[in-house]
Amino acid sequence: MKNLWDETDCKDSDTLSCCAYGSRLLGGDRSLVLHGGGNTSVKAEWKDVTGSSLDALYVKGSGWDLATIEVLGFTPLPLSRMQELLGLDKLSDEDMMAELSTARLRPDAPQPSVETLLHAFLPYRSVQHSHADVILSLTNVEEGEETVREVYGDSVVVVPYVMPGFDLAKAVQEAWDDQAHSETVGMVLLHHGLFTFAETTRDAYGRHTDLITKAEKFLDGLPEKHKEKKDLNKKAEIALVELANLRQKVSQAAGAPMILSRHTCEEIDNFVNRSDVESLATRGPLTPDHIIRTKRTPLIGRDVDKYAQEYRDYFDRNNERSKNDLTMLDPAPRVILDKEFGLLTIGATAKDADIASDIYQQTIPVLETLEDQRSGYVALGEEDLFDLEYWDLEQAKLRLAGPRKEFAGQIALVTGAASGIGHACAAELLARGASVIGFDINPEVETIFSGPEWLGQVVDVSDEDAQVEAIRQGVERFGGVDILVVGAGIFPSSELISELNLDAWQKSMDVNVTSVSRLFHHLAPLFALAPAGGKVVVVASRNALAPGKGAAAYSTAKSALTQLSRVAAFEWAEHGVRVNVVHPDNVFDTGLWTEEVLNQRAANYEMTVAEYKARNLLKMEVKARHVASVVVELCSDRFGATTGAQIPIDGGNERTI
Ligand code: ZN
Repeated sequence: MKNLWDETDCKDSDTLSCCAYGSRLLGGDRSLVLHGGGNTSVKAEWKDVTGSSLDALYVKGSGWDLATIEVLGFTPLPLSRMQELLGLDKLSDEDMMAELSTARLRPDAPQPSVETLLHAFLPYRSVQHSHADVILSLTNVEEGEETVREVYGDSVVVVPYVMPGFDLAKAVQEAWDDQAHSETVGMVLLHHGLFTFAETTRDAYGRHTDLITKAEKFLDGLPEKHKEKKDLNKKAEIALVELANLRQKVSQAAGAPMILSRHTCEEIDNFVNRSDVESLATRGPLTPDHIIRTKRTPLIGRDVDKYAQEYRDYFDRNNERSKNDLTMLDPAPRVILDKEFGLLTIGATAKDADIASDIYQQTIPVLETLEDQRSGYVALGEEDLFDLEYWDLEQAKLRLAGPRKEFAGQIALVTGAASGIGHACAAELLARGASVIGFDINPEVETIFSGPEWLGQVVDVSDEDAQVEAIRQGVERFGGVDILVVGAGIFPSSELISELNLDAWQKSMDVNVTSVSRLFHHLAPLFALAPAGGKVVVVASRNALAPGKGAAAYSTAKSALTQLSRVAAFEWAEHGVRVNVVHPDNVFDTGLWTEEVLNQRAANYEMTVAEYKARNLLKMEVKARHVASVVVELCSDRFGATTGAQIPIDGGNERTI
């Protein structure tokens, strides 16, 4: 491990800024810390408004990630109060957190880490703690403690596994009294991770890199015991319907729609095809705090019902033992290992599924090293893992993400998503929690939104192969398609039928209708597997209901599109799929209307642009967001009994009322 400390980065900074800097170095290395894991602290002076000062502990607050932590992410606490608490023989989790919370010197500081008292105890100014892969590789074996001694001699204190919190702080005190001396540079918590400490963050970080490097060298020097030879006989293309079917079962077990994301690469293929994958992968997570993201074991294969039943049994067994009356979490898996699909990860959002993926992809090489090069992977026992999974302070980390949003776990495909109505619909769906696949011919679609819930794809909807490939990528990313919003469309230049340009006519039919019939054809089997029912909303046009002169190619195409949607409403009702149509009119904030066209049209009607825009009964300007709010509302449960409807969004029009 490379020591990345750069003296110029915190030369003139204060102690706390240096601590934040060193924390980011630690957090930036994914082999050390993943998604909110690990914590750091520094002991420094606190000055209050009266000018008096006291010794304080600044410890990482929950909700902050070490990779991005700033000075404000550290919670200041009076050190003397921490010492008093450490002096107690017993302290419940609730009381400990209440005391820590009350002791905060800054009222807006985040909740301090559950490992705060341990940080307070360590008699050094700067403390760094990670769940480094290589430390877990040393300790997750039968002879963990001996191995730590072999690698580090007596330069570290070794502590057996104890759940984080007050009891761990006490266990550390005890081990410290027995083992620490003036040359002690670190502390290894078996099945958990590494602590290093020094008078400065620079030195604590330096000791971290030194100890990790020693472990890396030890592991690199191990001979390969055996390497399995495998014939990877996987299909080049998986059946999307089978993937969506698996997602439906997982969602049923979870009691809500879930995102299921597929990951493949050579390492994953090798791992899922190991002959011993079932035994190796079901022993438990590398470090206990992964459990809230991955569950204790992955599902091997596709039998979700059996997995859910085993989870219920596991809960019942351990709930009986527990003093508290616990409520079972949903029994659906968060990680699936399948010989054909590879690694599948699951979450209420794509973000959560990605966190499970990051953790599991980090897990695979460690399991393989321990199994193939050492005496075999040994995880913590079921009881310890259960206690952590159902520890309220651990579940509190998940609650920081806030309540589940309305469309969370549902997957929407929006065509024409880079501009106008399609863009507004995609934005509204994202805001209300959906994961969204956006198609557009404009390359900007890829980056027009960001974040894990967005997958923008450059697609010409009139190219069937491109459309099919983009659907494949979308389904592999999120696990299915539940909602379709047809926003893509073209408006050919106006001409009378006597002057009809057949190429323009054909293009209008291709893009506005035929491409949608193909999309319907390819998506129908996926809609039928939508966990909360499939929903389709087609953006047609007022022209479909009330045509005028000079737009034959457009109006006819939008009429055909409306008819296609009505047939789909008939055909798909038996699968619980709702299909509705909206008819917007004169929505000017879309790609179809340039300034020039607008001026021209207004002049044709002898109106100002403002008058032209508002020539409807309500005398209002209809915007893309008006259309988007109706479209997305039609996908909500509030319209659960509506299919085959056509709704005008035109500010009121004499001809359509
Ligand atoms: Zn930890």
